Amino acid sequence: MSDTETLDAVAALVRQARRILIITGAGLSADSGLPTYRGIGGLYDDKLTDHGMPIEKALSGQMMANRPEVSWTYLTQIEANCRGAQPNAAHHAIARLVAERPGSMVFTQNVDGFHREVGTANLVEIHGNLHQLVCTECGRGRMVPDYAGLQIPPACPTCGGLVRPDVVLFGEDLPRDGILRLEHMLADGVDLVMSVGTSSLFPYIAGPVVWAAEQGVPTVEINPGQTPVSARVRHRLPMGAAHALGEILQRLDAGS
Ligand SMILES: [Zn+2]
Repeated sequence: MSDTETLDAVAALVRQARRILIITGAGLSADSGLPTYRGIGGLYDDKLTDHGMPIEKALSGQMMANRPEVSWTYLTQIEANCRGAQPNAAHHAIARLVAERPGSMVFTQNVDGFHREVGTANLVEIHGNLHQLVCTECGRGRMVPDYAGLQIPPACPTCGGLVRPDVVLFGEDLPRDGILRLEHMLADGVDLVMSVGTSSLFPYIAGPVVWAAEQGVPTVEINPGQTPVSARVRHRLPMGAAHALGEILQRLDAGS
């Protein structure tokens, strides 16, 4: 199948689907100019941090508990990298697909908050959101547009406790609520599973795609490079998210 034929076939599936599970990763935000880092630390690749430790250690839950100033140093760098970037056409396209199909869900690994910013309904940010801060003592939370002006590490204005972003650091568990929502979605039945801009390295990201493929549910992967699920999906679009989703929406609008 040529890419054009695949786009036609995927558009037909999207048109018929009432409940779509859309799994997204860093590739989605690449069109917003963000690096497609692995997890939260790939900005650093294999290099050691300025503190002489691997980024996985600097950005671990244990480091945040014991030496929060170290973790915050790198969180601040990551946030500075995202600052000024905006959601792109892919985020808007996905928000529209979900709005038009209320049984659908977006399950994202991204911590940039772009899906939330464009008002995506039924969203699970499984790794959290960099802009959501939470007090480790009293649990009070607040949203911040960026980290400008924050004292590092920040203290809770109410109780003085350590404040951290509500993100999943290395070595920490995924939020149970998000996993349960995904499980309920799959248990209730899905018509289509789309994996968009993710390298599918985590089992909880690849798992639903493989599960759907085994159940005979149509699956689509949109990602420029090959991933562990590439050989399992029914349709594969080797291209950027904004481009592919734009082509699909055009077909929906044209009614063809
Ligand atoms: Zn507090």
